[in-house]
Formats: sequence, C-alpha cells, structure tokens
Amino acid sequence: MRIPILALLSCAVAATLGANALAQETPKPKPEDTEVWTPVPAIVTPGATDAAPPSDAIVLFDGKNEDEWVSAQDHTPAKWIVGDGVLTVAKGTGNIETKRSFKNYQLHIEWKIPESITGSGQARGNSGVFLASLGPGDAGYELQVLDSFNNATYVNGQAASIYKQSPPLVNPNRKPGEWQSYDVVWTAPTFNADGSLKTPAYVTAFFNGVLVQDHFQLKGQTLYIGQPFYKAYDRAPIKLQAHGDKSEPISFRNIWVRELP
Ligand code: MG
Repeated sequence: MRIPILALLSCAVAATLGANALAQETPKPKPEDTEVWTPVPAIVTPGATDAAPPSDAIVLFDGKNEDEWVSAQDHTPAKWIVGDGVLTVAKGTGNIETKRSFKNYQLHIEWKIPESITGSGQARGNSGVFLASLGPGDAGYELQVLDSFNNATYVNGQAASIYKQSPPLVNPNRKPGEWQSYDVVWTAPTFNADGSLKTPAYVTAFFNGVLVQDHFQLKGQTLYIGQPFYKAYDRAPIKLQAHGDKSEPISFRNIWVRELP
C-alpha cells in the first residue's frame, strides 16, 4: 500500500510537536532544584582545640569549682575534691550530679585513673558517667569508667561499655596516669502519656577519639542485677559515680555539654 508523502510528513510533524510539549511539561532538572538555603545553621565558634568547649556549650567543670554539681543523694553541695584544675572523687561522699537537667545532648568529659591504681576487675578505678540520673545511687544509664588498660572483667562492664548492655566496639584505653576522653551523643528515650516507652534511648560514644558505641539502642536503665527496663522521665541530670571499691579515686576535668534538639 502506498502512503501519501503528505500524510507521512504530517505524522512526523505531529510527533515532533508532541515531544516538544512533553519536554515543556517536564523541564530538565537543574542543580539548583536540590539546593536548600534556609534555615541557615547557627554560627558556633569552636574551641581552641577540639577538646575545648565551643561557644554554645554549657561548661559543667572548668577546673575552678564544682558549682554546677550537687550530691545525688540529697542535693546538698557536691563534696568531691577540686584542686590543680581537676575534680577528684571523694568516695565516702557519694555520687554527684548536675544541678541542670538535660534531654538530648553532646557531652565531652575527660578522666584519669591514678598511676598508683590498685585492685582488679570491677574494683580498679571504677566510676561512671550516668547519661541520665534517675534518682540517688546508681539509678539511670551508665557509661562505665574503669581501668581497662590491662584489667580483665566482664566485657559489658569494661571502660566505655554501656553497663551490662553493650561492650565497647574496641578497647582504646590509655594506661593509668594518662588523661582519657569520652565524647558522647545521647538521645534520650521518650514516653507516652501513660508512661509506656515511645522511643528508646540511643548512644554514640568516642573513647580517646575512637568510636566505641555506634548508635546503640538501650534496653532500659543499666542495672547491676537483673534485666534492664525503662522508667518514664523527661529531663534528667548527668551523674558521676563514687564507686564503693577500695581502689584509689579517679579524677575528671574539662566537662561540657551541648544541648541538642
Ligand atoms: Mg561504674
């Protein structure tokens, strides 16, 4: 069959017009399509070193006094020892916690096991950073502090473990007498109106700059005995542990926190 040339031409013209119309409806993507310009991130002046508090940090201990801290037992002024720019545990006086309460945050804290440390296992430089203090004693969520340089214990109780829940990914301990650091991102759990768990807590932690907890999902409060469980709270202090073992007390310095949304 012969198709008139005019018909063929008109078909070609129609096809071209159709393609053009389609091209106009779906413009070619541009780099600008995926650029976001607002809101502009707030300007924060970093510290002189990465360990120093940035401009938006709340300084919890700068070497001068323990004014930001109280006894976790009765909320009287903290009675640990401040000297030479460091805060040293006074074991007989119990745990201390911040006057302020927090929800989500970034925390920097440095600690040192004394060179003269004695003892073994959990009784060698034991302390702890409770990421949320939920009462006196050891109630809350503990990031363990311990001399784990050369000191065997259960791995979910060594330094940088989430106590009895999550061993650290690796062991980057420095030896006793040297300062060490924790940098922590804490995402607090949230709760429904009836007190049931809405979203669990998560923790990411670096120990001496090495990742040791990678967005670990907590099972609840860290308990010495028994299975962890959640208890509803909104904001909570950060607590430091005066552990009852007989080993020489450890020290802290350069503690600061940045609240997160
Ligand atoms: Mg401890």
